[in-house]
Amino acid sequence: MATATATTRGFAVRCLLCAEEDTVRVDVHDVHTFHCGQCENEFTADDVRAEMARWTKLLAWLDTTPVRRD
Ligand SMILES: [Zn+2]
Repeated sequence: MATATATTRGFAVRCLLCAEEDTVRVDVHDVHTFHCGQCENEFTADDVRAEMARWTKLLAWLDTTPVRRD
């Protein structure tokens, strides 16, 4: 069975695995799975949420540290 995909162009997202921009497609039959046309790997919406959570945690930590910001 062929997989129907839709591009995510316009969202300016990068592949979670190779960081290439505008190569991520979403399977319209499984909108929680992303496929990268550059590295040919797949990742899920939960993978993206986990990555975002790690960055959010780091940014929150930065906001509490006495790091000089100009
Ligand atoms: Zn990729």
